[in-house]
Amino acid sequence: MSRSQQITVLGATGSIGLSTLDVIARHPDRYQVFALSGFTRLSELLALCVRHVPRFAVVPEVAAARTLQDDLRAAGLSTRVLVGEEGLCQVASDPEVDTVMAAIVGAAGLRPTLAAVEAGKKILLANKEALVMSGALFMQAVRQSGSVLLPIDSEHNAIFQCMPLDYARGLEAVGVRRILLTASGGPFRQTPMAELAHVSPDQACAHPNWSMGRKISVDSASMMNKGLELIEACWLFDARPSQVEVVVHPQSVIHSLVDYVDGSVLAQLGNPDMRTPIANALAWPERIDSGVAPLDLFAIARLDFQAPDEERFPCLRLARQAAEAGNSAPAMLNAANEVAVAAFLDERVRYPEIASIIEEVLNLEPVVAVGDLEAVFTADAKARLLAGQWLSRHGR
Ligand code: NAD
Ligand code: MG
Repeated sequence: MSRSQQITVLGATGSIGLSTLDVIARHPDRYQVFALSGFTRLSELLALCVRHVPRFAVVPEVAAARTLQDDLRAAGLSTRVLVGEEGLCQVASDPEVDTVMAAIVGAAGLRPTLAAVEAGKKILLANKEALVMSGALFMQAVRQSGSVLLPIDSEHNAIFQCMPLDYARGLEAVGVRRILLTASGGPFRQTPMAELAHVSPDQACAHPNWSMGRKISVDSASMMNKGLELIEACWLFDARPSQVEVVVHPQSVIHSLVDYVDGSVLAQLGNPDMRTPIANALAWPERIDSGVAPLDLFAIARLDFQAPDEERFPCLRLARQAAEAGNSAPAMLNAANEVAVAAFLDERVRYPEIASIIEEVLNLEPVVAVGDLEAVFTADAKARLLAGQWLSRHGR
């Protein structure tokens, strides 16, 4: 049998990181952990190192690195600790690495993910914000390096599974009419509009079907997550925004669908557990056990579908507008959203103000071309500044 695949897990201490390690641990003959990164919860990172014995661990700063290095030595491990973005880029592009799970949340994941792309790695992309920010540059780098890019987001993994193998020829060429992107509608799908000003971060994070990190949970509640996913789908499958339709499907059993010109609609179904798309991408084009229970259609009994309500979910409208505007607009949308969601999680802004902040930032700043990574980070910084000004003007 061929040698086992060396895997770097960026964002190992998060929800996707832990699910990835769960799948990897089921297949010790196939996969070996090369590196793990964490940002907070460093005692958990230590426990993960003890369990998976990586060659490298990456932490955000020098003091944390010293502590972790001492603890690793005391545990009898020779794992080397690296620091910061440089360390992340190193373990993402090391010649010995085959596959990189990009599961850092937010813009912080962009440089390390791109480093993996440029080194021609197989990329398991969970970090949708990286692609939203820099779509054109990111996809160009994928083409140049010949890197294999596999989507982890459950919807995009579902679409990938429902597409023909040669979909890169273009959607029209392979007979695809539309992509149907499903959304659960999150915890506030039916909450009276007047109550939305008073919902707490914990209520926003109590997703009915999925257990996820706090930032993406808030994005799911506001449906910004679906907006980011719309942009993500356009880049991954070379679609125009008008070719991607959002369908609210509260049970989260169908993870997305592809509609063909002959009237066939292919869907991927499964229990809402991220280990399915993770196992699919890890082993692609083979199939491996993920630990996910078989789908029980009799227990589910029914599947419902609704059109999304953009008045209830203004973030979805803002994301679609940014998708259509292209250029710097998605990076600005993403950065303003990151600032607004962090402020909401800190209880400095109310839930409906997340959309107000993003809308103001997008209205204030003209859309410009982003020809290189520096221009992307300039747009990102500008949006963070404007969102910060909103917060100070409102005394937050
Ligand atoms: P999480 O908050 O649970 O974990 C985030 C990880 O990133 C942690 O390991 C954390 O230590 C690390 N991190 C945070 N800030 C960092 C920084 N500034 N620098 C370096 N590392 C940092 O988040 P998650 O739910 O696992 O989501 C991770 C990514 O996957 C997100 O982009 C999210 O949109 C995407 N995603 C998640 C799910 C899910 O079910 N959780 C589904 C689809 C897509
Ligand atoms: Mg998703």
